[in-house]
Amino acid sequence: MTESDTVIETYKDRFAEAMMKSAPTPLRLLERGLGCYVWDSDQNQYLDFLGGIAVNSLGHAHPALVDAVSNQVALAAHVSNYFATAPQIELAERLLRLSGAGDDGRVYFGNSGAEAIEAAVKLARRNNQHGRIIALHHGFHGRTMGSLALTAKAALREPFEPMLPGVEHIEATVLAIEAAFAEHQPVAAVVMELIQGEAGVVELDQEFIVRARELTAQHGALLIIDEIQTGAGRTGDWFAFQGAGIVPDAIAVAKGIAGGVPIGALITFGAASDLFTVGQHGSTFGGNPLATAAGNAVLGEIERAGLLENAAFRGGQLKSAILKLQHPLVHEVRGRGLLLGVGLTDDVAHAVAARALDLGLIVNAANDTTIRLAPPLIIGDAEVEIFIDIFARALEEAQ
Ligand SMILES: *Cc1c(COP(=O)(O)O)cnc(C)c1O
Repeated sequence: MTESDTVIETYKDRFAEAMMKSAPTPLRLLERGLGCYVWDSDQNQYLDFLGGIAVNSLGHAHPALVDAVSNQVALAAHVSNYFATAPQIELAERLLRLSGAGDDGRVYFGNSGAEAIEAAVKLARRNNQHGRIIALHHGFHGRTMGSLALTAKAALREPFEPMLPGVEHIEATVLAIEAAFAEHQPVAAVVMELIQGEAGVVELDQEFIVRARELTAQHGALLIIDEIQTGAGRTGDWFAFQGAGIVPDAIAVAKGIAGGVPIGALITFGAASDLFTVGQHGSTFGGNPLATAAGNAVLGEIERAGLLENAAFRGGQLKSAILKLQHPLVHEVRGRGLLLGVGLTDDVAHAVAARALDLGLIVNAANDTTIRLAPPLIIGDAEVEIFIDIFARALEEAQ
């Protein structure tokens, strides 16, 4: 056994003995990152095409984020929500501007995606306490009890039943949503992702999205879009709904907003902004100056460096480069911008991801037949080239 084998065994054993048994076995012990690359405890380098699952928008250790967080922590990391801070107000204003919610919009800050969805569930109840909440089959919205009730996957839900009552799952079809609204009991809200990330980067039909907007508007139900994975510029728009030509009543954001510093937010549009009254929701950490300063730095840098354009351009570049491989295992590339799902013809996604990791590339098997890519928005020609080189080998060697 070499010295590095000992290190690996030690961290895996220590992890297994200290971490809750709900945690899967870690793939590597990572030590540091810079730009689009990370290094493990053996100083092996990896190209990071998962970005902490669509979180590291600016990659690793970006100076804009390092400076903002370092400066803010030296000023005040946290002050309680009895007080306001400048970074908090600035981030709320920025999110209202970028989302187009504008002057009528409002922002609630939490600390994660699930908390943004919890706020959305409470917003739905405020809209209609006796109404159903409609979510989609194959949708993912988080693991806390409220967000889990909206999450479709039975294996995640069943060990924790009974779920929050009043939630119903439907197929993402015009027929199914029309049927849901035809029922006697009203609908309080429809909650959905426009690109279902955990399901394997599956885009909803435009016709269904438009019909969902029409029906919710007609029936006084809220249309709440989960932009936790798609937001912060990842799809080439600030938020995916902007590419779908609709205006929702609320969006939930988290993941990429603060580049790795925990944050979540619910952004309301128009009349939905009046549903909560003083004291009806809150969070100790939510909107603290540390997290919001990080959010300002990340969104500010995305704007300054033109990373929306880069996400759209690199996404197209990656799509055509993957298809150009003409590999028999690849049958399609789904998604938009830098949220891509490579659809495989065989159940080998986990083997491909494992082989890629050994070759120095981090990608994710979202399911047995999908490789999900969510790299930092800063990738350039060099990263696309290295990715294609390693990915082609991983496809070859995983067969
Ligand atoms: C990750 C994710 C969540 C949950 O976010 P957490 O921060 O893990 O709680 C919810 N919805 C979508 C679409 C996500 O991708």
